[in-house]
Amino acid sequence: MNANIQFFGAAGMVTGSKHLLTTPKGKKILLDCGLVQGKKEKNDANRHFGFNPAEVDYLVLSHAHIDHSGLIPRLVKEGFNGLIFAHPATISLCGIMLLDSARIQRDDLKYVNKRRIRRGETPLEPLYSEEDVNKCFSLMQPVEYDEVLKIDKEITLSFTDAGHLLGSCAVHLDIAADKGKKIKITFTGDIGKYNDPILRDPEPFRQCDYLICESTYGNRLHPTGIDAQKELLEVVKHTCVTKKGKLIIPAFSVDRTQEIIYLLEKAENAGDLPNIKVFVDSPLSVNATRIIEKHQECYRADFIEYMKHDPIPFCFKNLKYISEVEESKLLNEFNEPCIIISASGMAEAGRIKHHIKNNINDAKNTILMVGYATPESLGGRLKRGDKEVVIFGEKIPVLAEVKSIDYYSAHADYNEMLHYLECQKKNKIKSVFLVHGEPEALLTYKGILIGKGYSNVEIPAFGDAFELKLP
Ligand SMILES: [Zn+2]
Repeated sequence: MNANIQFFGAAGMVTGSKHLLTTPKGKKILLDCGLVQGKKEKNDANRHFGFNPAEVDYLVLSHAHIDHSGLIPRLVKEGFNGLIFAHPATISLCGIMLLDSARIQRDDLKYVNKRRIRRGETPLEPLYSEEDVNKCFSLMQPVEYDEVLKIDKEITLSFTDAGHLLGSCAVHLDIAADKGKKIKITFTGDIGKYNDPILRDPEPFRQCDYLICESTYGNRLHPTGIDAQKELLEVVKHTCVTKKGKLIIPAFSVDRTQEIIYLLEKAENAGDLPNIKVFVDSPLSVNATRIIEKHQECYRADFIEYMKHDPIPFCFKNLKYISEVEESKLLNEFNEPCIIISASGMAEAGRIKHHIKNNINDAKNTILMVGYATPESLGGRLKRGDKEVVIFGEKIPVLAEVKSIDYYSAHADYNEMLHYLECQKKNKIKSVFLVHGEPEALLTYKGILIGKGYSNVEIPAFGDAFELKLP
């Protein structure tokens, strides 16, 4: 039997990362187990794996983002009982993110099921409960960067830092095959951008025979020459000092929120931050910040250097973290200029929707978008300049200013991805499989890679299987 790889998610799209590797001896290793995100797909794609979870021997997790980890509890619920290998920081982050995902599903379904019952349809069950989430952790086994672990007689696993999220990894598997040879497979997971303020740059890795590579920014380049801290401070001063208003920032709870806090903290230390309160209003952000503080082994050298002068990162005089709902509600009555950072980043869910609703009707306030937002999300509609938006079923005119800083991204652009792959001898790679990209990004990136001398660049569709030959 030959080894093969089959694609069950992030195939021709950006979410639901799941790739199933079968070794010559028939062992099955699942790379990532992500949730398909997006309104339409949510209910169907996540209820059918396309393979039998009980037959999977191991799961290797590249990082904690829900589109890579969010179906693990469902996999376990459907019979998977093998080990789950992940970086210790990934395991810590999964601890809060998977529970959060279970709660979001439960709350979302309350509304969906009300409508379904009204229409005479059967109510939907959540994909998993908080109890299902808790069952996953006994299966998780931590693997540090650069640790070489023999997970099976024929399978060796190692991780390198992918620089995309705390604990994010590129996954390297060496599979023993006939004649004492090995098949070397690398899965990039998501590749981070270079020069992140907190995380290290993506790390070079050993030569592989087969490469599964993400393609999110396969057709895009990040803008250059942006000084994020300077731009952020300008918006803060314009809103909170000149207009005496509130600055509302929708941000992802993990990484983007801490990045903004860090920039504000540096400004505060330099005496550049106006004397205003900064609220981080999201229980997930509060918990994520605690985890990020703990995993200093993932920080880049300049951030560690910075911490010599400011040993408690993500904490300064005017910064207040809010977990409780009642405290969050009190912010509506807080009438002084301030900054409110809250989740979600696309303003589609979470407390940020309330903050936007409460502050959108006053021109002295500003809503600042700092990350990607799909065009149909509330954040996307604000970003493109809609003059009226619907929040909680109510049409509301947009009187607040809306600004965006296009600097924040957790993904490498295509030039950075090419740079990342410079550690490889192209002619030694038998095939490149491009995953995790919108169709246009995948096609453009394929063309770029072929132009650079890579051959056999494939864009697998859902369910496609490829044989992995001996080197
Ligand atoms: Zn990711």
